[in-house]
Amino acid sequence: MQCKCGSETKLNEAVRSRLKARLEFQVCKACGRVSNAELFVKEVKVVVDDGVGATARQQFANLDADTAKALFARAGGLQRGFYHQRSVI
Ligand SMILES: [Zn+2]
Repeated sequence: MQCKCGSETKLNEAVRSRLKARLEFQVCKACGRVSNAELFVKEVKVVVDDGVGATARQQFANLDADTAKALFARAGGLQRGFYHQRSVI
């Protein structure tokens, strides 16, 4: 990916192992800007940056056990619904 400053970004990640949470994000090699963060709980993607704010990064920074559980349940529930619909078709 390309940063707004024109340099290349590289994929980086941060882990909070106690919560089984992982944040993937792009970091610019030149200016250090972080973008396109995605938050995973137990390897299920639960939050992405919305393009306006740093939603996934904020969630990751403020994450506690209850929030991680709630996000995972919401994302997991949606995925189950998706697979159910597919199997009906
Ligand atoms: Zn940059």
